[in-house]
Amino acid sequence: MNTVTRPRILVVGAGFAGVECVRRLERRLSPGEAHITLVTPFSYQLYLPLLPQVASGVLTPQSIALSLRRSTKYRTRIIPGGAIGVDLRSKVCVIRTLTGRVVDEPYDYIVLAPGSVTRTFDIPGLTDHAFGMKTLAEAAYIRDHVISQLDLADASVDPAERASRLQFVVVGGGYAGTETAACLQRLTHAAVRRYPRLDPSLIKWHLIDIAPRLMPELGERLGRSAQEDLRRRGIEISLGVSIAKAGPEEVTFTDGRVVPTRTLIWTAGVVASPLIATLGADTVKGRLAVTAEMCLPGYDGVFALGDSAAVPDLAKGDGAVCPPTAQHATRQGRRVAENLIATLRNQPMRPYQHKDLGLVVDLGGKDAVARPLGLEMHGLPAQAVTRGYHLGAMRTNVAKVRVGTSWLLNAVAGDDFVRTGFQARKPAKLKDFEYTDAYMTPDQVREHVAREHSGRL
Ligand SMILES: Cc1cc2nc3c(=O)[nH]c(=O)nc-3n(C[C@H](O)[C@H](O)[C@H](O)COP(=O)(O)OP(=O)(O)OC[C@H]3O[C@@H](n4cnc5c(N)ncnc54)[C@H](O)[C@@H]3O)c2cc1C
Repeated sequence: MNTVTRPRILVVGAGFAGVECVRRLERRLSPGEAHITLVTPFSYQLYLPLLPQVASGVLTPQSIALSLRRSTKYRTRIIPGGAIGVDLRSKVCVIRTLTGRVVDEPYDYIVLAPGSVTRTFDIPGLTDHAFGMKTLAEAAYIRDHVISQLDLADASVDPAERASRLQFVVVGGGYAGTETAACLQRLTHAAVRRYPRLDPSLIKWHLIDIAPRLMPELGERLGRSAQEDLRRRGIEISLGVSIAKAGPEEVTFTDGRVVPTRTLIWTAGVVASPLIATLGADTVKGRLAVTAEMCLPGYDGVFALGDSAAVPDLAKGDGAVCPPTAQHATRQGRRVAENLIATLRNQPMRPYQHKDLGLVVDLGGKDAVARPLGLEMHGLPAQAVTRGYHLGAMRTNVAKVRVGTSWLLNAVAGDDFVRTGFQARKPAKLKDFEYTDAYMTPDQVREHVAREHSGRL
């Protein structure tokens, strides 16, 4: 086929969904069949489920950043930058590259997989004072921040300052928040032994959630057992409670308690990437409304999947949509690639269907809970399943070896609690890590594309 007439496939986002889709396209399409382009701000795929272990120093940041250029067989053209708008009618994606230049990328087929960002609410002070747990930079920043709280508390002679530096609040009792609180509590619990001037009883971790239970997906018995593990380790769990306001040195809970703290970690859910709103198309709670084949109705050649799309959950039925998990995103990536190939070859597409395999939750050390295929597990066996699952799910062998070796080293030699100092002097905010203010409005996208187009005529 002539290079000029080869269809252009543009994949946005190199996460679980995007990378799986690209790899399948590379394998199943010959170079003559299509141009494949991937737009991504980073040169790696982030294995998000292990982010709390980076924050707690069990793993190094590099070990969960899976290279996009590992093999010389990879032939996809990669544009380093972020999509800031999509004009569905003109079939143009507007991209801001790493250098800040805005470029237009025309496509014949687009696969939207930009994932999600931290969901926030209109709570005074929240976006200024909370950290999220969604990016590698955030996890590394939080680790430095937590260790610096111990360093500063140790050096301080002011009891009020010490108290506020040694209390930590995590909001969100889903698996991300629970793992974050559990792993970081282990970090401070182990680190405090290296600070003989600090009273360990001053260190307090709070895990709060507006829901009546932690991780409801685990079922009542297993959820309770995770809760007992955490309480035994001294984590104070408050349910039916959220944040009323957040300040630089204290957080006010909705039950009226005021907790002196300089560490508020917000993991109360996710919302689709702001890129989705630039399309001006129908959404379901912010996720792009797509068919079971993951196509956008009314537009040819538009696919969306993963956290950013509301994909019907046919295995559950009753109008349910797939939850935002890596388990679904990976499998949807494969199905979208197959459906795109079917479209190119004038074959019928197939709907996405996958029955949830369950959940694994690493609470650090020997503590874990898991529910693989409905089987309830707790303690060491659950930890073995959890870690085995992650090793199996990681895409590259080198990442598996790096992570496995780090676990082993950490179990044998522990942590040195080194603060790298990469943390900027100016406190970073949610939007700095997640670039939520980088996007255009639907009108700006249309005006930009129209202007660029007329300029070329
Ligand atoms: C702490 C934590 C723990 C988790 N644990 C589990 C677990 O145990 N099991 C599980 O199944 N799921 C887990 N998840 C959820 C899981 O990580 C997500 O559901 C999954 O990553 C979604 O895949 P995705 O491809 O849609 O998005 P992502 O994997 O987030 O990928 C999106 C990609 O798009 C890129 N991107 C974003 N915006 C743009 C843009 N404008 N232009 C170009 N690229 C863009 C991002 O940089 C990223 O590379 C966890 C999540 C977190 C945060």
